[in-house]
Amino acid sequence: MNRIPLTVVDVADAEPLVAEVLRSGSLVQGPMVERLERGFAEVAGTAHAVAVNSGTTAIVAALRVLNLAPGDEVITSPFTFAGTVNAILEAGASVRFADISTDFTLDPDRVADAVTARTRVLMPVQLYGLAAAMAPLAELADRHGLAMVEDAAQAAGASCDGKPAGSFGIGCFSLYATKNVTAAEGGMITTDSGKVADRLRVLRNQGMRTRYDHVAAGHNYRMSDVHAAIGVAQLARLPEIASRRAHNADRLTAGLAGCPGLALPAVPPGRVSAWHQFTVRVRPGARLSRDDLAKALAARGIDTGVYYPRVVFDYDCYRAHPRVHAVPLAEVPVAAAAAREVLALPVHHRLTDEQAETVVAAVREELGG
Ligand SMILES: *Cc1c(COP(=O)(O)O)cnc(C)c1O
Repeated sequence: MNRIPLTVVDVADAEPLVAEVLRSGSLVQGPMVERLERGFAEVAGTAHAVAVNSGTTAIVAALRVLNLAPGDEVITSPFTFAGTVNAILEAGASVRFADISTDFTLDPDRVADAVTARTRVLMPVQLYGLAAAMAPLAELADRHGLAMVEDAAQAAGASCDGKPAGSFGIGCFSLYATKNVTAAEGGMITTDSGKVADRLRVLRNQGMRTRYDHVAAGHNYRMSDVHAAIGVAQLARLPEIASRRAHNADRLTAGLAGCPGLALPAVPPGRVSAWHQFTVRVRPGARLSRDDLAKALAARGIDTGVYYPRVVFDYDCYRAHPRVHAVPLAEVPVAAAAAREVLALPVHHRLTDEQAETVVAAVREELGG
């Protein structure tokens, strides 16, 4: 049986560019990284883009630029990948959570409730490729003097009110293997501020402005030109990848409309999703539970994923952490329900129309609709 995979890694066309780097004998951060940075600044609509070696590192570096003091707080989503929280902790900050809306992104009203005297940063997570409600969030950040740092790891190509994800403050992208644009591993930080970009370039290279001119205690956050070559080839295909994902999302949405027990992902007005995932919710009262539907689809050769099975702070390592403000799950009811109900269906750019129809028919048959 031919399985329908949830994700595909499709980078074979990067071979000539990677070979060019290998033949040059210059593997470390160089012209290919610069080329990738220029391309990414265009996608995010920012003046600058700074490449680093992972999405997690991108968030760490973005926060380090802000010179946070111990006890300073970042407010973020409780429904995210642990990388968001790990990066905040690595940067020395404390983390507080505000519940999400049913679109899976930060709820501005809950953020307003969560702001304290120690809040310094607002970090929306542009989950599944959907930007949060950025206008009210930006307004809140302005009112409280907070920096805006987007976890746009999954959102290359997304936008809100015509503004690209990654352009609302400091944007942090991931180029991990399964993200919409990959460099195998990698990250990108986008900003309109020349000062922030300059600081990031110094920090990522052991705090050096030029060789052995150390002006800050930095780190090695550099991306290699080998990885950047994969990213450059991928970025050239982003329009094609994005439109194919949107096409597939439209087909799944049309095909699954009205299916009993199923809530479909909605894109609020003004937003363009990058469709990193197409995530449905299997509601209470559906004929099968979320986990049983996943098993039934797997038996039919359709792979699915649960992003994420638990609220991000709901692990002993975070609940016990002195800088994590974990709360009872009842205080983040929308995130807690999402963790029980979400199921990602294949939407990737290599999914054919026929495969999308197979997915639709299988889900409908299993849920009796
Ligand atoms: C992938 C991801 C990260 C981390 O990116 P890496 O490149 O894997 O380090 C952070 N946050 C979110 C929401 C992600 O999806």
